[in-house]
Order: sequence, then C-alpha cells, then structure tokens
Amino acid sequence: MFYCIYLNIIFFLVFLLHLDQVYNWIWKKGIHSFDLMTNISKELRSFLELNFEINRVKFDISQKSIDGTIKNSVRLNDNNLIEAVLIPTNNRKTACVSSQVGCSLNCEFCATSKMKIIRNLKKEEIFDQVFLMNKQSLNLYNKPLTNIVFMGMGEPLLNYNNVIAAVNKIMDPSFLGFSSSRITISTSGIPKFIKKLADDGVKTRLAISLHSAREEIRKKIMPFTTKIPLNTLKESLVYWQSRNKKKLTLEYIVFDSINDLKEDIYALIEFCKGLRVKLNLIEYNPIENGVFKNANNKAIELYKKELMKYKITVTIRKSRGKDINAACGQLVNKSRKFF
Ligand code: SAH
Repeated sequence: MFYCIYLNIIFFLVFLLHLDQVYNWIWKKGIHSFDLMTNISKELRSFLELNFEINRVKFDISQKSIDGTIKNSVRLNDNNLIEAVLIPTNNRKTACVSSQVGCSLNCEFCATSKMKIIRNLKKEEIFDQVFLMNKQSLNLYNKPLTNIVFMGMGEPLLNYNNVIAAVNKIMDPSFLGFSSSRITISTSGIPKFIKKLADDGVKTRLAISLHSAREEIRKKIMPFTTKIPLNTLKESLVYWQSRNKKKLTLEYIVFDSINDLKEDIYALIEFCKGLRVKLNLIEYNPIENGVFKNANNKAIELYKKELMKYKITVTIRKSRGKDINAACGQLVNKSRKFF
C-alpha cells in the first residue's frame, strides 16, 4: 500500500512537470482524451486517465439549415444542453455563442426566455463552444471563424465574469488570437454591467436589444425593463461610448401593431441623439405559441427612410437558420434528445 501511495506521488510530480504539454493538448489542440497525448509517456497517460477527467463540452446533434446555418446542440458535463450556431457566408464565418442555460429575463418574443434560467455557463463552457465551432468551420470550409456574437441562449452581462474570462481567452494570441472588434456582446441592456464593461476596458463591440424607445411599449414586450428606465439605459450607453470609441449596434424588431407607428420612429431617433449608433432592423423569428408578427414592408421602409434623414446607419437584416429554429430568439433546445 505504501508503495502504491509513493508511486502515485511520483506520478503526480511527473505530471506537474508535464503540465504545459497537457495544457497545450487540451486547450490548443482540443484533445478530449489523455490517451491521445502522444508526447507524454504511456505510464503517465494511464495515471492521468485513472485519476483525472477532462471536462470538455461535446456537440450532440448538428443540424444544417437550407441557407447553410448549422445549429449545434451542445452537451455539458452535467448533461444540460445549450445551443451554439455557426453562420457561414462567403466572407464570414460567425459563431453565435450561448452564455447561460436558459435565461432569467422575460422578453415576450424570445423562445429562450420561456425555458427560464437553469444556470450560468462556466468560462470553459463558453470558450469551448467557440473552440469547437472554429474546428467545425476549418473542417467544413477550410476557414477559421471570423466573428463571434454573444447572441445565443442567455443574457451575457448577467454572467459577466465568466463571459469576460472566456472573451479574454478567445483574444489571447496563444489561444484563438481574436481581435476585440470581431467580438460582439449582445445585451438586453443592463446598465450596471454596461458601465462595468467600460470601466474594465473591455474593447469588444456592444449590441443593445432595444426593440422600442417608448417606455410603455418596452415594458410590455420586455417586462424586466420596468426596473430599468430608458434614460438609465441611455446614460450607461453614453458612459460606455466615452470609454470605447466603437459604434454601438441597436437591435430592433419592428412588430406589427406594437412599434410600427411614426411616434415609435421619432422616439427611436430621440434615443439615438448623443450616441454613435448603427441600427439593425431585424426580422422577427416566429416562436412556439408566439403572438407577435413582423410589421409589413411599408412600415420597415418608413423606419429606414426616417432614420436615414438623421444620418443614422440602418441595415435591414434577414434572419438565417429559421427552418431549423436556429435564428435569433429561437434557441430553446428543440433538437434535444431525451435521455
Ligand atoms: N440576451 C441577449 C442575447 C440573446 S438574444 C440580448 O437580449 O441581446 C439575441 C438577439 O435576438 C437579441 O437582439 C434579441 O432581442 C433577439 N431576439 C430574441 N427573440 C427574437 C425573435 N423571436 N426574433 C428575432 N430576434 C429575436
């Protein structure tokens, strides 16, 4: 017995000497098994296999949309599932990443909010989604990821520390070496954390899911904003832009009979004053039991025309991956296998 303890201590000390190699296999080459770490002795590999576990996330099912979008159902070590979406176009390979299992916010038009919050993702679970989609993109298109958007399941700013730790690793030149301008954190608008991003010098892009600049309407479609008045949100955005020179993106769905009037447009123009923004008018993606509808083209064109009068950059965004429920707001583990 003493011999056994003694041997294990020796192996553990040898393991410490090889920590760098093990780390490189796991984090740079994405290896999930000690057995495949060929530059480490067989004896040490067996010792590691017996005594340690590599907790990486795994792609469970991957579905492909007719437009090429790939929705990956990602299994976590505790068997929870999340979704991570790869959006390929000619010149971009974008990874849409989740930050929580479920979501604690209650945006009425979003499928993820209906599943409620289960837990925050760990920083490794966030990094792994990017790591695996980078591999997937290299395998399928011979090209690495070009962009990362935190627009999957969950509210990234309510899992601030883990999201920022993952972002730092994604940007670290010895890992993926991403530039901050190719990473976008999308938030429903949590002022305290928007200010924290500025104070912490986080240089990524920021997108705000605004959807209405009229208090009473926003409260109806995003009830949690009852506690976050628009002027508090705006103040935090002005603060963010005083520290980060990038343009802000405002995400905005024009819903039929909800925010498709001229007064909605003027409220939005007023909100944009004093901010450097670009506006993405995004298509509403239908969700199960959803009561919302896209506004007609005339209303959307009117938004565009009026905003352009004020020199606000406007893009009308068509959604991708709708046929497999992979589009914005549709992520709710529908491809889930029950076990
Ligand atoms: N919680 C974060 C990120 C997840 S949602 C946020 O709110 O920004 C990513 C984007 O999808 C947000 O702009 C969100 O408002 C939008 N979205 C949610 N449900 C949608 C739906 N059914 N159709 C289109 N976009 C939706």
